[in-house]
Amino acid sequence: MSEPVIDLHTHSSVSDGTETPTQLVRAAVAAGLTTVALTDHDSTAGWHEAFEAAKGTGLTIVPGMELSTNYGPASVHVLAYLFDPLDAAVVSETARIRDGRLHRAERIVERIAADYALTWDDVLAEATDGASLGRPHIADALVRRGHVPNRSAAFESILHWQGGYYEKYYAPSPLEGVEMIVAAGGAPVLAHPAAHGRYRVIEESAIKKLKDAGLFGLEIHHRDNTADGQARLFELATKFDLAVTGSSDYHGAGKPNRLAENTTSPEVLERLYATATGYAPVTS
Ligand code: AMP
Ligand code: FE
Ligand code: FE
Ligand code: ZN
Repeated sequence: MSEPVIDLHTHSSVSDGTETPTQLVRAAVAAGLTTVALTDHDSTAGWHEAFEAAKGTGLTIVPGMELSTNYGPASVHVLAYLFDPLDAAVVSETARIRDGRLHRAERIVERIAADYALTWDDVLAEATDGASLGRPHIADALVRRGHVPNRSAAFESILHWQGGYYEKYYAPSPLEGVEMIVAAGGAPVLAHPAAHGRYRVIEESAIKKLKDAGLFGLEIHHRDNTADGQARLFELATKFDLAVTGSSDYHGAGKPNRLAENTTSPEVLERLYATATGYAPVTS
């Protein structure tokens, strides 16, 4: 038996990753992963393709999603694992968020187009049909037009939340998100809770409320969490008996993050399997 290598946060072209679920699964196998979670933003549309692509490889797929939530002015991401993708609330709420993303992206593009050569069709050309649309797709269109060299540069300038073109989109509160995922049998984990540049980090009393609502864990091992933030998160994980996860947040060529640059322990994976009841991990 090889050592388990568990990466619980990746994106495909169903949201803002640059690889299809099939390509992502191949990359995961090539990188030596034994378990990978597919966690596209606000969408489960890639699950089936990932299951099919993993057939015969021995790779275990943990189906998941990265749910957008709004916490005051801050955007807080909630990773959700092993929930029922047909749950009525999950289906309607994620559709509402994706629709909000689409119209918000259109408005951002309209405003950028007043200052730069850019069209809505440019952006649509960067996304797969029905993808969860976001700033990364606008970034790719800006790169193709030659306005910026890469996604990161776009996020540091034109697409920065203080860059003059930014706009938020509809999302539930973190508490509503956690409650919805738990009701659908899933296990929710706060994604990169101490990331650089967060408007404010979610405070202890709020984490306590989320724990009481069924929060499973905190994604502490993630490149965007600051060192100070990680130390504080470890204290909170101990205090509230929250699982500690680690993951890459791989986006293919869309981000420098590499598969398995951070990983989750087999013990935490077992705890996840014992907690979530909405869907089973898939190995074939
Ligand atoms: P949005 O949800 O549309 O506001 O866009 C946020 C998304 O952009 C997140 O999912 C990140 O994966 C991605 N993102 C944020 N910062 C960067 C960056 N510097 N380079 C590439 N992608 C980024
Ligand atoms: Fe993303
Ligand atoms: Fe995120
Ligand atoms: Zn992510």
